[in-house]
Amino acid sequence: MSYRIAVRALCEFAAKRGDLDLRFTPSPSAQEGIAGHQLVGERRGERYERELALNGTYRHLEVRGRADGYDPDANRLEEIKTHRGDLSRQPANQRALHWAQAKMYGHLLCAERGLDQLTVTLVYFDIVSQRETPLSERCSAEALRAEFDAHCQAFLAWAQQELAHRRRRDRALQALRFPYAGFREGQRPLAESVYKAIHTRRWLMLQAPTGIGKTLGTLFPMLKAMPGEPLDKIFFLTARNTGQRLALDALRTLGAVQRQRQNPEPDHLEPDDIGSGDIGSGDAEPNDSRSGDSRLGEVQAVPLRVLTLTSRDKSCEHPDKACHGESCPLAAGFYDRLPAARKAAVERGWLDRAALRETALAHEICPYYLGQEMARWADVVIGDVNYWFDFHAMLYALSQQQQWRVGLLVDEAHNLVERGRGMYSATLDHAAFRRLKPTLPAPLKRPFSRVASAWRALANDSESDYRVLETLPGKLIGALQQAVSQVVEYQSEQPIALDSELQRFAFDAQHFCRVADVFGDHSICDVSRQAPRGRQRLAGARVTLRNVVPAPFLTPRFAAAQGGTLFSATLAPEAYYRDLLGVPDDAPWMSLASPFRDSQLEVRIAARLSTRYADREASLTPLADRIAVQFRACRGNYLAFFSSFAYLEQVADRLAERHPEIPIWRQASRMDDDARETFLRRFEANGEGVGFAVLGGIFGEGIDLPGDRLIGAFVATLGLPQVNPVNEQMRARLQALYGHGYDYAYFFPGMQKVVQAAGRVIRSGTDEGVIHLLDDRFARRESQALLPDWWPKPIKD
Ligand code: SF4
Repeated sequence: MSYRIAVRALCEFAAKRGDLDLRFTPSPSAQEGIAGHQLVGERRGERYERELALNGTYRHLEVRGRADGYDPDANRLEEIKTHRGDLSRQPANQRALHWAQAKMYGHLLCAERGLDQLTVTLVYFDIVSQRETPLSERCSAEALRAEFDAHCQAFLAWAQQELAHRRRRDRALQALRFPYAGFREGQRPLAESVYKAIHTRRWLMLQAPTGIGKTLGTLFPMLKAMPGEPLDKIFFLTARNTGQRLALDALRTLGAVQRQRQNPEPDHLEPDDIGSGDIGSGDAEPNDSRSGDSRLGEVQAVPLRVLTLTSRDKSCEHPDKACHGESCPLAAGFYDRLPAARKAAVERGWLDRAALRETALAHEICPYYLGQEMARWADVVIGDVNYWFDFHAMLYALSQQQQWRVGLLVDEAHNLVERGRGMYSATLDHAAFRRLKPTLPAPLKRPFSRVASAWRALANDSESDYRVLETLPGKLIGALQQAVSQVVEYQSEQPIALDSELQRFAFDAQHFCRVADVFGDHSICDVSRQAPRGRQRLAGARVTLRNVVPAPFLTPRFAAAQGGTLFSATLAPEAYYRDLLGVPDDAPWMSLASPFRDSQLEVRIAARLSTRYADREASLTPLADRIAVQFRACRGNYLAFFSSFAYLEQVADRLAERHPEIPIWRQASRMDDDARETFLRRFEANGEGVGFAVLGGIFGEGIDLPGDRLIGAFVATLGLPQVNPVNEQMRARLQALYGHGYDYAYFFPGMQKVVQAAGRVIRSGTDEGVIHLLDDRFARRESQALLPDWWPKPIKD
């Protein structure tokens, strides 16, 4: 069996030495890179050969790649690198890496064409000045071969280890059994659908109710599919940290139970088994909490390498420093110490956040960048959705580079609409710019004053406090681009801390320029300001490139995976998610029946109560009294949801005033992890009281309060986003694109939050509870059509 590797990956493994050096370099965007390559190619003669696919072997290594160009008349192979800024400041180890790559291609070309010598040229193309800087070396075929062999030899032992790991992993996965005697109700069709989707190389949109065991039920079939499809990696992506913990628990369970089982029964999920009705008895209780023992994860029966990716903000050990060797001790000599750390990390196999940090620090390298490296060698990577869907998504970029076959699981996929919008939107806040100005070093004052004047012109262009621009603010964008380049120049002399205002502004400005590059119908550009007059008016100004429909950006990301499943308890209406997410047309949408009985739940609608903005004041006493009546009728823990903190406070105050005997606790507008835990701890078994929270907030989804930790919920308002100029613009754009402006901008997102919040009540087959929907609009047919099928008919009172 041979091991295939791309030239670039091989060089990064074998030829990278020295410091990690990520001084803020606004490297060219993908489009700029492509355009730069094209331009250089066009400047060459007719016989110039572009994009040469090359490959060769070294023992059982198969090395392949694409050289940028070859001029047969000059017998010159060119490797083109686009850049911005002063080339003389390029770190030496990066230059060395480029040479290694170019010479690898040089050898492959010599071998393919029988050349005995060749000129190898690195062509650095500055995308701003459009100037080329060529660096050439005349090389004999023999010297190129020796270099190629040396790099391959350095990788060979690792490749052998990887092949052996892959064999072991796939054997274990073929033998993997579901860790319980049977599936929970609904879990089996869930597992089968996920398996079918990846087996047919498609995406699946899956609405599956709480309590089925979605995490285990999706990971198990994906792992079973891994050897046969075959898949290189599984990425389990979440929009919230709670989902990551559940995924780790499920993986521990799969490995641990396998290890303990004595006489394994053939219980495999093979392609032929799909639909054969013989993969388990389904006798586990939906409330089964056998989620694995964390201790057992340390000894895996299934030799899976599992990695959790954590953001740089959370994993940085020196937030006051910059990511290069002169500033941060964990960046100095990073690549020299990486091989030992990498080896220790693969031996460990299980790299959750703590294990990754421990391994990195034991080798004195940065945990965040070790995580990025280990994504190359892990089998299952758990991380935020942005690692695949964002502009510069690391897992997506690596998969493209390495041509991995990837299966994706996207948990709580309903969040991808808002998260996707956030990824492809950008805001420039004048307040941040003002804070930065007095601290600017002298060399940056002039470029930033150009930004200031472009900004002033834009803000003073109209008397209106909110307006949508017909065209992009070209002058501001041009000034920002120049300012960013100057920051780069400056930073190569002076380290800038990761958390400095200047660094943040430079990142924001660069992101803004990139979003501007891909601006289109899917987005709007608006200028808003809070203060109406004079200088203060500018102080409150914001320019936003606001994505409304992330579909055009997400569609290619779906296509780049072998297949996958988007799953959530609320993925309806189908058309809404299909339109906004851009899921492939051939992706089936399915909704699984709930394991719960309608007798477990009572749903009441306050059909004569209005919580519309104009009626808020009048609603306070009826709301407080309703909560009190329910609490007295059945004492226990309740959650009450409101559309805003202001409304929440008003009702909580009224309840405290009229019914002081009822214990209450409130969500605050900013809560750290400890405060969040304290809030949730109040929901103890057999407890009594009412927790007040906001709809769509941190307690509105992703929290699990089974049994009598929560026996009911009150949901006041339909959760509709506020009517304001921004939302009205979104509505207009969605109306123009899909003909459903109000539903897509207000109604569906609002009802989705309601169902998520109410879904906190019944978490298991033995839970019982009540949901009060507190607004007359819940009694309308269109609202009830969006409530889960299994809910009983609401009682209107
Ligand atoms: S520890 Fe922080 S500053 Fe140092 S390299 Fe890592 S992310 Fe950068």
